[in-house]
Amino acid sequence: MTLRDDAVAHVMSTYPAPRATFVRGEGSWLVDADGDRWLDFLSGLAVTSLGHAHPAVTRAVAEQAATLVHTSNLFVTPPAVELASRLGALAGWPDARTFFAQCGATANEAALKLARRHGKRIDADKHRVVALEGSFHGRTFATLEATGQLQKHVPYEPLLGTVDHVPFDDADALRAAVDERTCAVLVEVIQGEGGVRTVPAAVLETARQVCDAADALLIVDEVQTGIARTGPWFAWQNSGIVPDVFTLAKALANGLPIGACVAHGDAAQVFEPGDHATTFGGNPVTSAAALAVLDTLEGGVRDASRARAEQVRAGLDALIADGLGRGVRGAGMLLGLELSQPVAAAVESACDARRLVVNAVAPDVVRLAPPLTVSDEEVDMALTRLRDALNDVKEAA
Ligand SMILES: *Cc1c(COP(=O)(O)O)cnc(C)c1O
Repeated sequence: MTLRDDAVAHVMSTYPAPRATFVRGEGSWLVDADGDRWLDFLSGLAVTSLGHAHPAVTRAVAEQAATLVHTSNLFVTPPAVELASRLGALAGWPDARTFFAQCGATANEAALKLARRHGKRIDADKHRVVALEGSFHGRTFATLEATGQLQKHVPYEPLLGTVDHVPFDDADALRAAVDERTCAVLVEVIQGEGGVRTVPAAVLETARQVCDAADALLIVDEVQTGIARTGPWFAWQNSGIVPDVFTLAKALANGLPIGACVAHGDAAQVFEPGDHATTFGGNPVTSAAALAVLDTLEGGVRDASRARAEQVRAGLDALIADGLGRGVRGAGMLLGLELSQPVAAAVESACDARRLVVNAVAPDVVRLAPPLTVSDEEVDMALTRLRDALNDVKEAA
């Protein structure tokens, strides 16, 4: 029996068969059970932005684990309070307040419950949410319903029946969908799981306007785009709009489970004691890891990553110039290479064979989310492996 056989036997098969078994990680590299080194240009789905086993995170986790691991929310601990205040400062919101969760779905679940609470204070019927087609917001019942990929709903229907979806690029449809019964509009700035699709500025601006007009909250899901993945700390900071609430998770603690729902203004005052809770929220170890992530990014990694992001994009543009792709989507270090044919799965496999980790995020889009700590040599290596993989697929066709 291999570990993969054991996984199939003992772990519920909600995921496709595993592509590889990794036993160790170092910076931009993953090491498999045979000792092969894979260049990781996916970062565990935009999570390990500082690479694997980053010493600052390792140290913070080890020190906090040796100091205090858990107290429950009946008490406060320094790392969570400091993290909440740091997130507010990065948003530029002196009055921000944060609810800590465990992951993206539970951060969004908190945001949706906050919006429901906001709406019900105004009117009993003000409980509807408008979200975008193609979006991804999580897999709990409420966040699944908000997710605009309806094939994921089918096995679990009936859902709550409170979310309307509009096309991700249609400002007029969004305007028409929002009325006085709307308590929130939920958007991503770039739809990561939806194929690295940038939501048009006009849609985001309309979302802000209609939320103001309808007294609804604008929630931006920054679970994938946040923490400098696309350049700014949060993607909304480059989008021309300011949300009432945004959510974080993936990269916040470089791989430790954490989620955050950050609000300002009136939205920050909505929850009252007893309104929402979670046992592990604000855990000191995950919060300490997140503080180490923010320190490291502020200490030069975020600045240095801009040049690497340009290098990746230039490399993808060169592939396109050579007929190996049709376009590039996304921003910063969250990029999608659009292919001329729906062969992204084959390209993913060819990259696996060349020991480059990427993923097929749509039938014709390959997603790249390298660590922000990647070196220029590693970027060159990855681009060479990707070019070879694209040629492999082209020749096999
Ligand atoms: C990954 C993701 C989620 C869900 O996060 P989980 O940690 O898997 O629950 C929600 N929203 C977006 C935009 C995501 O990319």
